[in-house]
Amino acid sequence: MPKLRPTLLVLALAAAGSTPAATVIRGATVIDGTGAAPLTDVTMVIDGDHISLMGPGLRAKMPADTKVVDYTGKTIIPGLVSDHAHVGSVDGTKSGTPVLYNRANILRQLKQWRTYGVTTVTSLGFNLPAVFYPLRAELHAGKADGADLFGADRGIGVPNGAPPAKMMTVGSDQLDRPETPAQARAAVDAAAQRGTDLIKIWIDDFNGSLPVKMKPAIWHAVIDEAHAKHVRVAAHVYYLDDARQLVDAGVDILAHGVRDRPVDAAFIEAMKKHGTWYVATLDLNEAAFIYARHPAWMDRPFFTRAVQPDLAKQFADAAWRDRVQQDGSTRTNEDALRTNMANLKALYDAGVAIGFGTDAGATPLRIPGVAEHRELALMVDAGLTPVQAIQVATQRAAALLNLTDRGVLANGKRADFIVLDGDPSKNIEATTTIRAVWQRGQQVAGPLESTGP
Ligand SMILES: [Zn+2]
Repeated sequence: MPKLRPTLLVLALAAAGSTPAATVIRGATVIDGTGAAPLTDVTMVIDGDHISLMGPGLRAKMPADTKVVDYTGKTIIPGLVSDHAHVGSVDGTKSGTPVLYNRANILRQLKQWRTYGVTTVTSLGFNLPAVFYPLRAELHAGKADGADLFGADRGIGVPNGAPPAKMMTVGSDQLDRPETPAQARAAVDAAAQRGTDLIKIWIDDFNGSLPVKMKPAIWHAVIDEAHAKHVRVAAHVYYLDDARQLVDAGVDILAHGVRDRPVDAAFIEAMKKHGTWYVATLDLNEAAFIYARHPAWMDRPFFTRAVQPDLAKQFADAAWRDRVQQDGSTRTNEDALRTNMANLKALYDAGVAIGFGTDAGATPLRIPGVAEHRELALMVDAGLTPVQAIQVATQRAAALLNLTDRGVLANGKRADFIVLDGDPSKNIEATTTIRAVWQRGQQVAGPLESTGP
């Protein structure tokens, strides 16, 4: 990138001439989300909610009313974009009850995500339309406080099957379970009519614990009808064989990684040929066992400030920790995580389209904000470089949602970004050293030490 000339900055500030006066951010290292190497000593001019000019190394005389923020020594990355989360399903240790899907609880969660630098969140199912759509509109317009929200309407599940009614006790207004292809098409039509961003389906038997999986006739009908209505379909998957069939049938997004066995060349080719997106959700399996082991990061503000009191009590309970450690599912989750990480690396290296998500908010252990930063660390453990992992969580994740206004820091893009004390290009865990979060050109959160759940 060529160095900016001072005259350009003066022109940008003059053009910004709106109220409030332009803001100039300077001195920081910027990882812009495109996968490019970090830029040092960057100057960023913010005009309203977007970046009007950005480039390295620039000092100029500025109008007296210009707000200048010096972030020398800090590193800035774009706000994170989650392609797979859930809102209104969890509060403390409570989950899966319809009363949690209310505006106050959802805004509490969206604020927590934003405090952790996740400025855009996609709620992949269980959305109560009467609450979801008005809130989505307010958030899009900047009239409610929290991460911006997208979603997949109610979602389409299976009678007596996934998602498990025991784990996800949701209201009948929050999930469809069609019995026939005609009912499935009607459910898609209704969601499309309401203006959904995506359609969600579940193809899984949850490690054999459910008697049935969604019949191919149903998911074929869903994909066909959704595409006829110009809406894309995201599928919950676990097994390679299901993923393969769905990809061949034109599903648009695999909303979880393949976790039963290694992906093969034919599957990788099919993903590339169809342009199918892959969202690994590595953190989901780690979250099932890691808190019982109490890694050192659980004592840092990065973690403690995200944990509601009831959940903190559970983590401190020795009996709970013993139970999780001895639970047979821990081994299954460790294996699933290992397989998922190897598959992510294979697909990434082959050039498959990779999105970003964690399934945060689906259960109490999948903690908004914490989950996304753990996902970044696990992606690097899987073999991506920190800059690649950040690109997936920003530019690529926004591209999955067809959002062109965010995900990278550049002229004309939304001024959604995280200011970090550390440089994550050297150590990915530096994404947790949050000094400030900016959204739409305004600082909306400070250091994690100063916040609480
Ligand atoms: Zn989910």
